[in-house]
Amino acid sequence: MPHSISPQSTQTLEADSPPAANPNPDLPSQDMSMSDASSPAAAEEQAKVNLEELFNDEDSDNEFSSSAPQVKFEDELSQPAPLKVSPRSQFSDPEIMRAFYQRLFPFRYLFQWLNHSPLPCNDFAHREFAFTLPNDAYLRYQSFPTADLFRKQCIQMLPSRFEIGPVYSTNPRDRKQLRKASAFRPLTKELVFDIDMTDYDEIRTCCSGASICPKCWAFITMAIKVIDVALREDFGFKHILWVYSGRRGAHAWVCDKRAREMDDQRRRAVAGYLELLKGGDGAKRVNPRRPLHPHLERSLNILKEHFQTTILHEQDPWAEEKSAHLLQLIPDVKLRDALKTKWDSSPSRPSPSKWADIDTLAKSGSLSMKPQQLLEAKQDILLEYTYPRLDAEVSKKLNHLLKSPFVIHPGTGRVCVPIDPREVESFDPFTVPTVVQLLGEIDAWKGQAETEDGKKVQDWEKTSLKPYVDYFRGFVANLLKDEKSGIKREREEGEPMEF
Ligand SMILES: [Zn+2]
Repeated sequence: MPHSISPQSTQTLEADSPPAANPNPDLPSQDMSMSDASSPAAAEEQAKVNLEELFNDEDSDNEFSSSAPQVKFEDELSQPAPLKVSPRSQFSDPEIMRAFYQRLFPFRYLFQWLNHSPLPCNDFAHREFAFTLPNDAYLRYQSFPTADLFRKQCIQMLPSRFEIGPVYSTNPRDRKQLRKASAFRPLTKELVFDIDMTDYDEIRTCCSGASICPKCWAFITMAIKVIDVALREDFGFKHILWVYSGRRGAHAWVCDKRAREMDDQRRRAVAGYLELLKGGDGAKRVNPRRPLHPHLERSLNILKEHFQTTILHEQDPWAEEKSAHLLQLIPDVKLRDALKTKWDSSPSRPSPSKWADIDTLAKSGSLSMKPQQLLEAKQDILLEYTYPRLDAEVSKKLNHLLKSPFVIHPGTGRVCVPIDPREVESFDPFTVPTVVQLLGEIDAWKGQAETEDGKKVQDWEKTSLKPYVDYFRGFVANLLKDEKSGIKREREEGEPMEF
């Protein structure tokens, strides 16, 4: 059992408590001053910018050939004494959270991801972080000049999670000192998407609310496949980071510079392009124009494979009296009556048979409309049951905060790990490690303390978090490579040649 020491070792993740509502970044009342935090000393401590931290001696870093001095990470210099994890350890225990931030959280790569350069710059320093503290206080407008200061504050405050907001025009901590409030404005942020299983409650039959099982995780798999290919092929984005939300959903971070610089209007346009389901309960929710947009044509081709297995066989959405909804979606009165008669006489017919009945009865003379119209109605039904249900509000605003990758989900103890979209079919949320499991793996590790080339083995490398951090590191390295060549190109194009 990969998570035998986790308190959540069953296949169904039960809802323990409803997760806190996503904090609305528009509400100024959410803003807390540092003195409201549980640890005022911590605030004072992290407010100090130690220049020595910024210009520490050089550090071996495979990703960058820059000869400039780089930030040294404390976790690579001194690692704390091993923490004994007992089977009864809870992921919310302070010492568990402290060990997580000290030994496992990949601050170095998170910093590189958000900074877009090996040397600290405003992309990181002016970035808003929002902490949820163990007492549930919500601390907005945190910012850090370096990854190490960020790490220190995490170890000190032990946030149960933190969110990432935009890069602002000035340091978020200085916003109240500005003479004009308008001088403090969000400039850039990744374009983000949120897919949450609760938006599927009206079509999933296996679970509801915060619970998920392998059957309904397939909805998230379908959503990732459809959205990922659309973002790449239709918008030309390359750097799309998918992250497991820790329980019942996934987030996408589109990190291309072009995406980060999009204003709200453009974000709304992309979200609108990808949004398909409209309307309220009971109504026909999918009504695309014909001929189908190429994006929907492509989505249909991806989704129809899943429709037979995930929907018809596993979800069995039209069992017994639930076939009434399917009948509602059949536009032909004659066919609808024929189907109703058939299903009333055998209500326990499984959904795959009911779906097949539509064509069988249509061909045997119960269709009064054109076959093409029936085909289109069936396409609409397929889309209603498979097309991604996005929480589009998350995508529309530049200043919306989203939970960081690699934090721990406060309800499950699982780490919010990245998902490789090329291997999304094999991603299993139930094998994602919990923090307690990972700390146990460090204790149990029996390998050499140093690699063959003399490098100290990091604690995360001793655990099943390693493949996820390795993937993230590769993702960040690719992003930075493009970022570097983009800056070079801008510089070349910006300076006219002189003769
Ligand atoms: Zn389920």
